[in-house]
Amino acid sequence: MGKPTGFMEYARRDRRYAPAADRVVHYKEFVISLSESELSEQGARCMDCGIPFCHQGCPVNNIIPDWNDLVYRGDWQAAIEVLHSTNNFPEFTGRICPAPCEASCTLNLNDNPVTIKTIECAIVDRGWEEGWIKPQVPERRTGKRVAVVGSGPAGMAAAQQLARAGHQVSLYEKADRIGGLLRYGIPDFKLDKSLIDRRMAQMRTEGVEFHTNAHIGVDIPIGKLRESYDAVVLAGGSEKPRDLPVPGRELEGVHFAMDFLSRNSKRVQGSFVQDADFISAQGKHVLVIGGGDTGSDCIGTSNRHGAKSVTQVEILDRPPEKEDKNLTWPNWPNKMRTSSSQEEGCERIWNFATKEFVGDDEGHVTAVRYAKVEWSKDAEGRWQMKEIPGSEGEMKADLVLLAMGFVHPVHTGMIQQLQEEAGLELDPRGNVKGVTEGDEAYHTSVEGIFCAGDMRRGQSLVVWAIREGRQCARAVDQWLMGQTDLPR
Ligand SMILES: Cc1cc2nc3c(=O)[nH]c(=O)nc-3n(C[C@H](O)[C@H](O)[C@H](O)COP(=O)(O)OP(=O)(O)OC[C@H]3O[C@@H](n4cnc5c(N)ncnc54)[C@H](O)[C@@H]3O)c2cc1C
Ligand code: SF4
Repeated sequence: MGKPTGFMEYARRDRRYAPAADRVVHYKEFVISLSESELSEQGARCMDCGIPFCHQGCPVNNIIPDWNDLVYRGDWQAAIEVLHSTNNFPEFTGRICPAPCEASCTLNLNDNPVTIKTIECAIVDRGWEEGWIKPQVPERRTGKRVAVVGSGPAGMAAAQQLARAGHQVSLYEKADRIGGLLRYGIPDFKLDKSLIDRRMAQMRTEGVEFHTNAHIGVDIPIGKLRESYDAVVLAGGSEKPRDLPVPGRELEGVHFAMDFLSRNSKRVQGSFVQDADFISAQGKHVLVIGGGDTGSDCIGTSNRHGAKSVTQVEILDRPPEKEDKNLTWPNWPNKMRTSSSQEEGCERIWNFATKEFVGDDEGHVTAVRYAKVEWSKDAEGRWQMKEIPGSEGEMKADLVLLAMGFVHPVHTGMIQQLQEEAGLELDPRGNVKGVTEGDEAYHTSVEGIFCAGDMRRGQSLVVWAIREGRQCARAVDQWLMGQTDLPR
């Protein structure tokens, strides 16, 4: 795999970004690719480590050493075939996956890991450029009809796999465009939306029918799909945001992150959004509450709007600068990370608990009252949070974005109808109940209804959604046909 001495000869190199000042004036991608010879060298760093822990670290179990070797040897066409054997959409993961594979790379133990994600992205981008990626139209149709509800990465992967197995697949989406959080959550500057359109064109040729503005459980009762299709896959994501019910929550200017992000992305993608509905950060002191991907996307978008200041606060401790690899490898470590959006400009504060939003006479938020907190473990080893006496303060904020994650899928509508009509079971966290192994994999408690992605596992990552969509499709095919040739 790669060049036996490559990891000793070449240092890790990765894609760079355009300068922050240049990129914050637009919504286009700003990553600068490596050249073909640089990529070949980086592929050569993959050492024949015997047990490739990266396979395990990657949720779709990408066969990473094989395509590293093929890129090193210049056989890019074979590389895209290997890559597609485990991942339907490497152009999405090659751009926005946090790359747990790299944390688990054996070279990461005492050196820097192989630039796996960059190589993945280069392989698939080259595959499209060269015209090597073609629709895989099934030779035989089964006559079975499957409905997939929700068009995020889980729904798209499930639909593509089921169509390739010869089933007639209809993909229903309540939004006006396909893609789920890929479309309206993750901003255009991190993922260009023409990539979703290109996959849709491929899927259409393979036999997937797309239905947008189709809210199942509201516009179309779920019972109708159960009558008309042989199987139904629920892939509606985890859309109920975690709220912050402190005094002043009702003030104008306090919004859920997704309301801010989705309306902005709609405008960027050319849809009409009324000025009254649009949430602008221009000239404002923006406070982002929550430190994850969603928070970062709010920072990048606020800076592109021309915010006066952007501050991101987090209730947890500041993570350590570096992990102790002897303790964490090959797992994903807790360590200080700086996203490209944070790099573009924002102040970051940890141990910050929001106590109250303060408003003016017109009912608009003007500030936030907070207290600093500290964390310690109790006798049973459980983390406990304590406010530091006398640490209270007030911070200016005229736009507050709540980016504290998502609690579970929205229950009103489709899920509630399935609970009432067929006894659909939820897990204790409020997600749709379903296991991932065995004869009942991805099957809900209702016969013929399957579930995958964030709607089943809770808020997660694009790469996990693709894995679940693929595996769910295999389970559906097995259930419909009594056997399946679809890969896991
Ligand atoms: C702002 C933000 C940024 C993120 N950034 C990253 C990142 O950089 N990297 C990463 O790996 N992950 C990221 N994530 C997480 C990732 O986007 C999700 O884990 C992933 O998209 C889940 O895929 P899914 O297909 O299960 O659901 P979703 O992508 O949420 O798609 C579900 C779709 O179902 C539709 N739907 C729901 N109910 C119905 C219904 N009743 N009828 C019809 N349609 C319905 C919704 O409109 C939606 O389009 C981010 C999440 C957010 C919110
Ligand atoms: S999908 Fe993510 S984890 Fe898997 S190889 Fe690509 S970057 Fe790594």
